[in-house]
Amino acid sequence: MKRILVTGGAGFIGSHLCERLLKEGNEVLCLDNYFTGSKRNVAHLLQNPYFEVIRHDVTTPFYVEVDEIFNLACPASPIHYQYNPIKTVKTSVMGAINMLGLAKRIKSKILQASTSEVYGDPAIHPQPESYWGNVNPIGIRSCYDEGKRCAETLFTDYHHQNQVRIKIIRIFNTYGPKMHPDDGRVVSNFIVQALKNEEITIYGDGSQSRSFQYVDDLLEGMIRMMNTGDDITGPVNLGNPGEFTILELAELILKMTGSQSKLTFLPLPQDDPVQRQPDISLAREILDGWSPRVDLETGLESTIAYFKDLLKL
Ligand code: NAD
Ligand code: UDP
Repeated sequence: MKRILVTGGAGFIGSHLCERLLKEGNEVLCLDNYFTGSKRNVAHLLQNPYFEVIRHDVTTPFYVEVDEIFNLACPASPIHYQYNPIKTVKTSVMGAINMLGLAKRIKSKILQASTSEVYGDPAIHPQPESYWGNVNPIGIRSCYDEGKRCAETLFTDYHHQNQVRIKIIRIFNTYGPKMHPDDGRVVSNFIVQALKNEEITIYGDGSQSRSFQYVDDLLEGMIRMMNTGDDITGPVNLGNPGEFTILELAELILKMTGSQSKLTFLPLPQDDPVQRQPDISLAREILDGWSPRVDLETGLESTIAYFKDLLKL
């Protein structure tokens, strides 16, 4: 049995990860400050004697003895990470320093949940890990993008300087049950709006694209990455190459929910990336042929069912 720390464990991805790690027979410590996460996401795990929840902010040091650390603590939705941009940078950067310091002291493995946002508004399509990105350092997304980029730098430097056993994954847009209904990201926004027959808010003309990954596929890739040998550090892209425009996503959700909602077009936020698609050749190669199994329609089915139940619709 391994003892595993999941920071951001009460969030959308973190809570799925805690559940899966427990199912695989591990002891799990879930750390969260509940900024965007919720106790509700992990309430069903509290009866498990091998599960523990700790209210803590990663910007201050934390001491514990574990075998592995998954560092997920960070708001991920633009409206939430832009709410207090200085805090977002602190969470990414000081959170990374504190967790890397811990990993160094206890000699544990540590995995960083990085993001496709390190590529910014990419000039290369699809994006391989070798692409250095096109990121505005002083825009409204910078607190998140640059914070995550600096965290990657810190991980790499702790590895080179202190031999910390690191793993960096770059997660592309991931969705699924347990997203917060007011999360603000496109999949949850559109589903909630469609189920309530409210206007579907398209930012810009909806021609911008994203590649949507179902959460179960991400978990599989994340765990395989953590289990690789110490010579594999990443960064590695984890995403579903299936690429859709935002308008296509809206139309699919309208069809699947049978909604009466109308589309409304709102201004496109500054620096909103035009296109995004992961090149996952490296993940396939180093993660035993890992590739996403859940297509968009199948993943949306269970996500819509989750929100129907949550909203009692
Ligand atoms: P989320 O907002 O649901 O989860 C983030 C969790 O971190 C929340 O529970 C939040 O309360 C917690 N948190 C935030 N600041 C904290 C702090 N200072 N101290 C302790 N806990 C803190 O978002 P998510 O989608 O589950 O994202 C999880 C991780 O994956 C994030 O690091 C995010 O950047 C990364 N990621 C997610 C996606 C995606 O599409 N979902 C894409 C790329 C990267
Ligand atoms: N978006 C939208 N309507 C919404 C929420 C988001 O049109 O209600 C767009 C947003 O402008 C972006 C895309 O959907 O082009 C994905 O947004 P999200 O916030 O989910 O993720 P990110 O931009 O970080 O990839």
